Amino acid sequence: MNSVRLQPAAPLHNFAVLDGELEVGGIGLCRLAARIGSPSFYAYDRQLIDKRVAHLRACLPPSIKIHYALKANPMPAVVGHIAPQVDGLDVASAGELKLALDTGSAPTNISFAGPGKTDEELEQAVAAGICINVESAGEAERLAETSQRTGWTARVALRVNPDFELKSAGMKMGGGPKPFGVDAEQAPELLRRFKQLGLAFEGFHIYAGSQNLRGEAIADAQRQSWELALRLSVDAPSPIRSVNLGGGFGIPYFYGERELDVTPIANALQEIVDNAALRLPGTQLIVELGRYLVGEAGIYVTKIVDKKTSRGQTFLVTDGGLSHHLSASGNLGQVVRKNYPVLIGNRIDQIAETPTTIVGPLCTPLDVLAENVLLPEATVGDLVVVFQSGAYGASASPQRFLSQREVVEVCV
Ligand SMILES: *Cc1c(COP(=O)(O)O)cnc(C)c1O
Repeated sequence: MNSVRLQPAAPLHNFAVLDGELEVGGIGLCRLAARIGSPSFYAYDRQLIDKRVAHLRACLPPSIKIHYALKANPMPAVVGHIAPQVDGLDVASAGELKLALDTGSAPTNISFAGPGKTDEELEQAVAAGICINVESAGEAERLAETSQRTGWTARVALRVNPDFELKSAGMKMGGGPKPFGVDAEQAPELLRRFKQLGLAFEGFHIYAGSQNLRGEAIADAQRQSWELALRLSVDAPSPIRSVNLGGGFGIPYFYGERELDVTPIANALQEIVDNAALRLPGTQLIVELGRYLVGEAGIYVTKIVDKKTSRGQTFLVTDGGLSHHLSASGNLGQVVRKNYPVLIGNRIDQIAETPTTIVGPLCTPLDVLAENVLLPEATVGDLVVVFQSGAYGASASPQRFLSQREVVEVCV
């Protein structure tokens, strides 16, 4: 065999194991698979979501509002489960707005961000009475037109593209030229225009980036976001009611990555809470999180349909792969492909000594779920489990590629 770098399967997960078999919500994996009746599925564990929310509440100052960004996992049962536990929902399309409203959440606790909101979406958002994060001067004009035409007041926050970057972020969404929000330099002028347009101003939305595992970097960005909000508040057309300080809390996906330590973030937020009490009393401070709340509570499971050896290497061919789970295949924003943590869900207690590559059924070399990992000797019918799959899984995958079957999702 050529000198491939082998990786342990890195079983980085919070799921229970009984007699060598993974459990989801207290149900053995094989039994759950039989109940679902599909060779590939996502399963989300309600208790793990609850634990994560409770952990965050215990760490952050009590007055900090926690919002859930539906983009991470819009499955209705997941959204319905998490909505009563958080302080608000953030949506990024009319489709997500419908999901958010269907949970019974108060419209005052729902906000809508996104650089390409259509006239129809703006009208739906105004009619719903939610807060719209304005991303451009043009969008503000279109909103005012909608508001005048319908007679319904548009509640708005200004999304600001900050004049700093979130260091060490997996995805930077602020700083430099960006399609998101209005550059901090242009904000004062647009804030004055809000008043002329008769928009009901609520506050600021500053989102610096995503998937960061360095608490200090997130804390820095939050401090800078708060300073920016303070600076801009002098041009605000009315008192500031809310400042959304963003999120970016990451989860460990790859071998060697460590859990985010939220202590520095909690400390920064406490400083901001104290400062806000003096400088902008009555302002709600919000963090908006997606993957941190749900990512580690979900697994992707797919059945092995074939097993073969090619020039000394063992390949497990599974029912699903890239078309169900683009990010685990390494094709969603990764530069160098790395393995998500994987296990054989019904052989967890067996010795992992077989160098294995797990692929999906598509006729493309991109359809890889794990490359050169050490796993127990598996057979056709066994269940491959991909962890850290509760966010950006099913909804972020090209499920119709090669006319594959759509993946099933359950919330247990
Ligand atoms: C994508 C996104 C989120 C959620 O990001 P996570 O990395 O899942 O926490 C939150 N807010 C905005 C504005 C986003 O674009």
